[in-house]
Amino acid sequence: TQRTTMQSTPFRRLRKQNSSVSGRSHRFRVAVFGQAGVGKTAFNVRFVTKRFIGEYDPTLESIYQRAYIVPPNYPVFYEIMDTPGQEENNSVMLEKIKWADAFVIVYSITDRQSFAEIPRLKFLVSHTISNNGQKYCTKSNTPIVIVGNKNDLSRDRMVSRSEGEKLALELGCSFYEISVRESIDEIAFIFEQLYRSFRQVE
Ligand code: GDP
Ligand code: MG
Repeated sequence: TQRTTMQSTPFRRLRKQNSSVSGRSHRFRVAVFGQAGVGKTAFNVRFVTKRFIGEYDPTLESIYQRAYIVPPNYPVFYEIMDTPGQEENNSVMLEKIKWADAFVIVYSITDRQSFAEIPRLKFLVSHTISNNGQKYCTKSNTPIVIVGNKNDLSRDRMVSRSEGEKLALELGCSFYEISVRESIDEIAFIFEQLYRSFRQVE
């Protein structure tokens, strides 16, 4: 797979525009996991560019970057790792898990199979064992959120909102049900909350 970097407004420019912002930006790395087709790339591109394009190269592996002010005034430099969602060996997964400060695990409410994958992915994130037997556990306070996407497709719904909520509660994760197609603000809010939770700020 190719790896590219996509950049939105450079932080220096953003800082000039937001002169009320004080302090230096804080780099914050988010990895997004979930089965192929659930809308991970759509989710990331929505946050970084505000656009919904519709079709995304499923094999492309990117790190997106966005300088963003988390309200009230935390300047954050987001780095977001999009993943292809097909099986990768444990060492590759481990490398990605070590890289990230926080995690988003996505399923589609129209695809029960993608929902069934969530516990496995959550446990993979919390404790991974690489091919050479190396063990790695994320810190217990690492933010992990579960996102049920495509809730605009209510006629094709296969997973109820309460099932999503229940699973997230059992796994100790926050939960959101969203439509990347229909919203921008909710997606930004998820990224904001991830950061607040990581920094333990309000
Ligand atoms: P990925 O494989 O997880 O990266 O999934 P993509 O981001 O490539 O999205 C897979 C397909 O689902 C694309 O055709 C998207 O347009 C579509 N999609 C993503 N999010 C939504 C959504 O919220 N609603 C609807 N209706 N389609 C979506
Ligand atoms: Mg993708």
